[in-house]
Amino acid sequence: MRVIYNNWFPFGTYRAINMLGVIFAKRKYGKLNKTVLNHEYIHSMQQREMLFVFFYLWYVLEWLVKLCKYRNTTAAYYNISFEREAYARQRDLNYDKHRPLWAWTKYVRRR
Ligand SMILES: [Zn+2]
Repeated sequence: MRVIYNNWFPFGTYRAINMLGVIFAKRKYGKLNKTVLNHEYIHSMQQREMLFVFFYLWYVLEWLVKLCKYRNTTAAYYNISFEREAYARQRDLNYDKHRPLWAWTKYVRRR
């Protein structure tokens, strides 16, 4: 997985973002640890099974739905099903070896 460290992207306070399988990370936060890299790799798996474009469409639409529900941008972000799966499984460094296809769909509704 390719990681590009830079000074400006992602915008705001975000530490890293996965764009089509390439990770952009803010240099000021230091080198990404294994947990964060695994989180981003989970997004890569999600993106591939959603043929990339549908991942980003779903991501934005679900964020808007969750924003209406929670009325808070941070809460909306943490409750996107892709993020729920990535945060729930990021510490399992072998997750890619046993992750079921479409696993993120189990996180659409809160358990
Ligand atoms: Zn994420």
